[in-house]
Amino acid sequence: MIETVSNALKVAVDFVLPVVCVHCETEGALLCAECLDDAPALPRNACVKCGERTREFLRLCGDCVALPPPLDRLVSRHRYGGAVRSAVHALKYRGITAIAPLMAREMSRNVFFRRAKIDCVVPVPVHDDRLRERGYNQAALLAREIADGLGLRYVEDGLIKVRATESQVELSRQERTMSLRNAFEAKYGFRDAHVLLVDDVCTTGSTLMNCAATLKRAGARRVSAVVFAKEMLVDEGEEQRL
Ligand SMILES: [Zn+2]
Ligand SMILES: [Zn+2]
Repeated sequence: MIETVSNALKVAVDFVLPVVCVHCETEGALLCAECLDDAPALPRNACVKCGERTREFLRLCGDCVALPPPLDRLVSRHRYGGAVRSAVHALKYRGITAIAPLMAREMSRNVFFRRAKIDCVVPVPVHDDRLRERGYNQAALLAREIADGLGLRYVEDGLIKVRATESQVELSRQERTMSLRNAFEAKYGFRDAHVLLVDDVCTTGSTLMNCAATLKRAGARRVSAVVFAKEMLVDEGEEQRL
């Protein structure tokens, strides 16, 4: 009985509380049009495979030329920061899962999806411990919405995270690759498929690269990834010196 009353109250409170922007707290939408317009965009010289800046507006950065990564394409409209960071935090840490459809719509707005013949959509998995803690995988919420919106097949358990891993930010590119090795497993054969990986943020890229390598070992022909935001490892001050 008490539970019923508290549920009823919760519904009433949800109904009464106005929807406010997760960044500027203006009433109306979870991410208002103004904040979305001002959101930092990915730089025009971003590498098509890893999202880091390239010299002289080349398609690929030096690292991806020297050692071609298993990920064939990284799609992101935004650079991490400002309202984009607020949206990512809202979904990941504040439990505001209702923002997922809006973020997924933004992620799907890319000409890449008109040409790419994608066979299935797979979220970057989280370890079971994290799933228990948070109650949901934010990448899966986004991936399901993207698959629905683009009319693509969704394979929620295509990849499994079999090993918990530490933050990758302080490690070198090679250390990151090593530390995540064997962290993921493919649950199915992806023979000849073009798989679209989905995550909320790409920071060092090592998670996406390891997921892509795992999918390719399972037979995938091509692996692309879409994220809501790419965190740039080289800041703009450094960029100007390139
Ligand atoms: Zn706003
Ligand atoms: Zn690159």
